[in-house]
Amino acid sequence: MSFNTLGLSAPILKAIKEQGYSEPTPIQKEAIPVILNGRDILAGAQTGTGKTAGFTLPLLELLNKTKPIKTKQKIRALILTPTRELAAQVGESVEVYGKYLPFKSAVIFGGVKINPQLIKLKKGVDIVVATPGRLLDHISQKNIDLRDVEFLILDEADRMLDMGFINDIKKILAILPKQKQTLLFSATYSDEIKKLSDKLLKTPALIEV
Ligand code: AMP
Repeated sequence: MSFNTLGLSAPILKAIKEQGYSEPTPIQKEAIPVILNGRDILAGAQTGTGKTAGFTLPLLELLNKTKPIKTKQKIRALILTPTRELAAQVGESVEVYGKYLPFKSAVIFGGVKINPQLIKLKKGVDIVVATPGRLLDHISQKNIDLRDVEFLILDEADRMLDMGFINDIKKILAILPKQKQTLLFSATYSDEIKKLSDKLLKTPALIEV
């Protein structure tokens, strides 16, 4: 099976080809068509399975398929990760897979100066990849407007909960629109993850690899 049958369009397929990927991994085969159909998903996937491309590729496709008439630059997708390393890595994937698309992205994490992130946000971005704590700093400083978010992705949600981010996540969720597509990735499935997914996901497709 090749990437060509998954419903991704030419600019994305070209970027995949440049990465040298010959076929989708199991999680990509399962998740990409379901996400493209607009469904919420709850996916059990470890690092190394290709999960990042599993959500980034269909996200880029959906953003590209439904480009709004540009009245103002809006943040349309929010990807939350537990650590700055993962945020940087996911941000890099967004750049690489989206290199033939017009979208701009920003990576937001703590432990570095806030000002360069603010400047980037003020210039306007479509996609934000963030760790919860620093994102909340930007929210409370009114640096960021998340009211038009259409896609929310929680990457390594179990690690975010283990690291004590649940209250930060709740505060962030409270300001996002109700109407959106949500993708939840977690390597483990605990009661806390179940509670979070019950609260957040609408009739999700369950994906296990
Ligand atoms: P992840 O599980 O998202 O951290 O990805 C693990 C690694 O697999 C990354 O280095 C990706 O570049 C690589 N990768 C993702 N999808 C594919 C694919 N379809 N074929 C080969 N390598 C891939």
